[in-house]
Formats: sequence, C-alpha cells, structure tokens
Amino acid sequence: MRPSLPSGVLEVLEPATAAVLQEIPRADASEVDRAVARAAAAFSAWRAVSPSDRAMLLRRISDTVTDHLEELAQLEARNAGKPIGDARGEMGMVAQVFSYYSGSPERLLGDTIPVTGGQAFTVREPLGVVGLIVPWNFPLTIAAWKMGPALAAGNTVVLKPAELTPLTAVRFAELAVEAGLPEGVLNVVVGPGSVCGARLVEHPDVAKIAFTGSTEVGRSIAAGAAQTIKRVTLELGGKSPNIVFADADLAAAAAAAPGAVFGNAGQDCCARSRILVQRPAMDAFMAELERAVTAIQVGDPLDDATEMGPLISAGHRESVAAFVDDGAPVAFRGSAPDGPGFWFAPTVLCPVDPDDRAAREEIFGPVAVVIGFEDEEEAVRMANDTMYGLSGSIWSGDGGRALRVARALDAGVLSINSNTSVRVATPFGGFKQSGYGRELGPHALDAYTEVKSIFFATGV
Ligand code: NDP
Repeated sequence: MRPSLPSGVLEVLEPATAAVLQEIPRADASEVDRAVARAAAAFSAWRAVSPSDRAMLLRRISDTVTDHLEELAQLEARNAGKPIGDARGEMGMVAQVFSYYSGSPERLLGDTIPVTGGQAFTVREPLGVVGLIVPWNFPLTIAAWKMGPALAAGNTVVLKPAELTPLTAVRFAELAVEAGLPEGVLNVVVGPGSVCGARLVEHPDVAKIAFTGSTEVGRSIAAGAAQTIKRVTLELGGKSPNIVFADADLAAAAAAAPGAVFGNAGQDCCARSRILVQRPAMDAFMAELERAVTAIQVGDPLDDATEMGPLISAGHRESVAAFVDDGAPVAFRGSAPDGPGFWFAPTVLCPVDPDDRAAREEIFGPVAVVIGFEDEEEAVRMANDTMYGLSGSIWSGDGGRALRVARALDAGVLSINSNTSVRVATPFGGFKQSGYGRELGPHALDAYTEVKSIFFATGV
C-alpha cells in the first residue's frame, strides 16, 4: 500500500500484475457498529418473513448470481488471481448454494416428544445477527457457504471479507438487494481483520461468528467470543494426506494429485499437500506425477487455458518460498511466468522426512511433499500424525481397505479414488485443530439456529 494513502481508502491489488485493481472505502470499528445496528434493526422483520417467501427470495438471489455469473467470475479471477475457469465454477457453486438453501426455510423441522400432562415439541429459532469472517482464497464461495444457511434460517448478517479480496462480496450485496433482499439483512464491511473482525467478535449484539481462515486467528476468535458466550464455528487450516496404495490405479492417482494440491495455487485448506505413497509404487508414481506437474499451465488468470494463477500477495509468496530454500529436496518443478505478479512454480519435494517443517506445517502454496510408507498401519499413523484433520484421499483397488482407512483417519471430509472434498449437499468441516462445526449440506443449519423446547399443558 502507498504510504500516502488515507487510512479510509483501501487499494485492492490484482495478484497477476501487482497493479491496483480498485480503490475502495476502508471501514473502521465504528462502521462495524453501524452495520451491526442495521442488521439488528432488520432482524425482527426478516425472521417474520413467511418460510415460502424467504425461500422464493433465496431462489431469486441464486438466479441473479447466475445472470451475473460472468461478471462475478471475472472480478473474482482478477482480484484473487484464480483461473477464470475455476472462478466460473465457483460462481456456479454460489448460485447452487442459494438454490440448495432455498429449500430450507420450509424444512426447518422440529420434533414432537411424548411427555406427561401435555404436548412437547421443538422449534428452530434464528440466532439474530451473525458475523461472517471469510478469507481471500475462495472469497465469495466461502461467504456463500455461510450466508446461504444463515439467511435461510432467518438471521441477519454482517459479512467481513478479507481486505485482499473484498470486491465480489461488495458486488454480491448489491445484487442481493436487486433480487429483493430487504435493506439491512445483509451488510458488508470491508476493513482490517484486527480492527473490524475483532469488533464483530467482541460486539455484544452479534450472536454468532462463523470464521474461515488460519488456525492462529481462529484461536483468538474462539477466545474473544467466550467473553459474550457467542456461538462460534471455525473452519481452519489443514495438512491433508493423499494416500496412494500400490494396488491403486497409479495413473489415475498421479494424474489427479497435482489438481488436489496445486489447484488455487495451493491456497486451499483442503490441499492434499502430503502425498503418501506405498514404497513399491513410488518410482512409477513419481514418473507419472512429474509428467503431470510439468504440464500444468501457469499464467494469466483470464486465459481460458490457464490451470494455475499467481499467489495472493508478495508477502504470502515470501512465506511459501521459505519452504523451498537452497537446501530443499526439490524432486521436480513446473513453470511460472517471470515479471510482475506473485508467481510461484508448482514444486514437489522428495525425499522428505515426516518431521520436516514442509511435511508438518500448512504451506498454503503450490508445494507438495511426497513420503513413502510400508503398509496400511503405517499409512494411517503417518496420516493422523498432525494437529490438523480437515480432509484427505485414499487411492486403492481394495475397497475394504479403502473404507477401513477412511474410518481410521481423524479428518472431517474424505474421498476414495477421488480428491474432491466439497459438495453443496454434504457436510464440510474439520476434526482436531482444523476447527469445529459443519458447513454445507443439511448440517449447516444446526449452526445458525437454536433449538427451543415448548410444552403445552393439555390438563391431562
Ligand atoms: P487470516 O486467518 O489472518 O484471515 C482470515 C480472515 O480473518 C480475514 O478476513 C482477516 O481479515 C480476518 N482476521 C484477521 N485477523 C483477525 C482478528 N484478529 N479478528 C477477527 N478477524 C481477523 O488468514 P490470512 O489471510 O492471513 O492467511 C494466513 C494463513 O492462514 C494462510 O497462509 C493459511 O495458512 C491460512 N488460511 C487458511 C484458510 C482456510 O481456508 N482454512 C484461508 C485463508 C488462510 P483481513 O485479512 O482483512 O485483515
């Protein structure tokens, strides 16, 4: 940022060029207070909207996103530096999330419970104002995972996007109002996390914080929220394993492995950045993997042929590069453009000791480690030897073994003979220090509602 820039102005950069993409107003804590007040004022009317009308509104938001898909995708691709094909897919998912949760207002079911002297039943109530704090890696997508169920359940929202990538959130809020969402129901505040995010966490009128980001900030949010007994859900970091047994379809596993760790330039909490390979298959797997990695097209995010873009910032590139210093065991690398922009070539490290920093810490960039293992027992032990537990993959031709390993792994989202983690209809979230709470699928609604029990005396 230019030193002369006024503190109320934010320069948003384009990672592929390092040039300024837009200058926008930068909020402070008082703007958070005003946004919370707007959301609180809108709450009683929003929760009273009939379930069918709320459902219809969410469907309209979904349609509006679809109508503006290309505009939003271009904005996201430029601001986050992601390939345009990926950005289109992500905006499609945003629309799908609102379509999926448009089915929820009319399906927020309760229970009837047999008791003596009357009738007992449960209802689900919205929480009130919820604060959503989201990162820069999948900016609008992760915001949608939170906004969809939050709004469906009748909450009002204050959304704080990452300062590096606020543009699609700001545009989305305008589109949501155009689609019919009442003013005040969704409020976007663009400002620094240490100021605006922290204010949301401490604000007494915010009932819940849903956060995606680093484990370190997640810890401080959990601690801060404890002061007001706020509800919190945390989706944090990962160091996910991609376990390849010798009986797997090696060509398929090796062809899929780069996408699972170099997708979004490795800036993905689900990145399968620890590739564990059964030793007899190691040479064949590495040969296939090298072919796949060197073929990755790294370049201009707006080019349809691009498969990987730049990293998000100069500072982040420095922290990724620290894992690939002069002594690093680089097995092979792909290519990356020279010149401006925060480029970093996809890199595979092997052999790597499981205790090395590169094998233990979340790199959040296009750097994978490959480590050998002997048998099923060792694969499970190595895979679980981490403070994280978000996702992972198991590649094997033996279905029984694949299922045994899937059950033995301490992680929230697993795939067998596939590396996909995220589906709108299935729950997503971590074990251990990858966080708590689940997003997406039917389970997300639990995190945006309170269960209320009501007893109606019938006199018998
Ligand atoms: P952060 O956890 O710092 O940021 C995530 C969000 O939290 C941003 O909106 C940020 O605001 C906000 N924030 C920052 N500090 C506070 C605070 N004290 N109180 C409330 N909100 C806060 O992640 P970074 O962007 O700095 O990335 C650092 C590392 O985190 C990455 O290298 C990666 O390892 C991990 N990460 C994991 C993600 C995941 O998907 N699980 C996503 C992003 C990062 P702002 O940035 O505007 O200041």
